[in-house]
Amino acid sequence: VTLSNAMLAELLARAGTEADGHRRRAYERAAAAALGWEEEVADLLAQGRDPSELPYIGSGLALRLRAWFDDPPEAPDVPPSRRGFLTRAEVRRILDNHPWVALPAGDLQMHTTYSDGKATVAEMALAARQIGRAYIAVTDHSTGQPVPRGMDTDAAARQRTEVLDFTAGLAAAGEPFRVIHGIEMNLSPSGEPALSADERSSFSWVIGSFHSSLQTQADQTSRYIDALRRAGMHALGHPTCRRFGRRPGLVAEWDRVFDTAADAGIAVEINAHPHRQDLPVSLARRAAAAGCLFSIGTDAHDRVELEHFDFGLAIAVAADIPRERIVNFWAAEDFLAWVGAEAAG
Ligand SMILES: [Zn+2]
Repeated sequence: VTLSNAMLAELLARAGTEADGHRRRAYERAAAAALGWEEEVADLLAQGRDPSELPYIGSGLALRLRAWFDDPPEAPDVPPSRRGFLTRAEVRRILDNHPWVALPAGDLQMHTTYSDGKATVAEMALAARQIGRAYIAVTDHSTGQPVPRGMDTDAAARQRTEVLDFTAGLAAAGEPFRVIHGIEMNLSPSGEPALSADERSSFSWVIGSFHSSLQTQADQTSRYIDALRRAGMHALGHPTCRRFGRRPGLVAEWDRVFDTAADAGIAVEINAHPHRQDLPVSLARRAAAAGCLFSIGTDAHDRVELEHFDFGLAIAVAADIPRERIVNFWAAEDFLAWVGAEAAG
């Protein structure tokens, strides 16, 4: 038996539930970090290296990992909140030598200092360009949710000017890279948008996302359908709202939700954050069968998190989504024409 990082993540999380206090938190952090490790621990051990070189693995946890390799435990039964997550090592194998994943693409969700991000619009843009993105949309939070504080109308207007100035500067320098002014608009638990049609119209790209009543396991189909029909958005952000180890995500009749999104021409997001991976592969496959469009967003809150784009690509590839249905791969002009046409509707 060779233990994969996915199994190690589960064993670490499981060990955390049996520990107390700071040891528990150390296990939980290591379990979450395991999703992002660049290489399989098995390979690292085979090269005679020590697991303590991995993020969030100290000498104690390194011994624990070695002990699991020496005497492999039974494959654990994974609870819903940790089920269906890819590790970065798996992402690499999925993307390796794939025919189109390296083509130019935009990153369609990220946050800046205008809400809870740690970097400015320009810093995020330059970092994204540096790692090969063709364009980005900045999508700070709207008002309407208690945490984090979102952008009010004045801040949004200032940001729009900043985005337009920045993009104009690039264009003047002959740079095709561009920044699109978007927003992650909060949706209430009943599917009501935080912004009016007038407020939405000042943004080129509107993602609608739920951020409250996320632990319920009662059927939420109606909140999705109401939001998709009424909220005036281009994409549904982190659709299930799951978080690794914290919550399994909302429950809905997904085929109805995806049919509604496909009919309305609203993209469903593949949120690429390793701890979200939302949609998961299984649901992304069903959304593809329903005819949905997809948008990949890192949901980056700093420059380093822009690297998570690969998780979104790997989910799309694993779900057999055709590249033409992923709006990130459309040229910026085509993408803007699409959102412009939608916004006018
Ligand atoms: Zn969000």
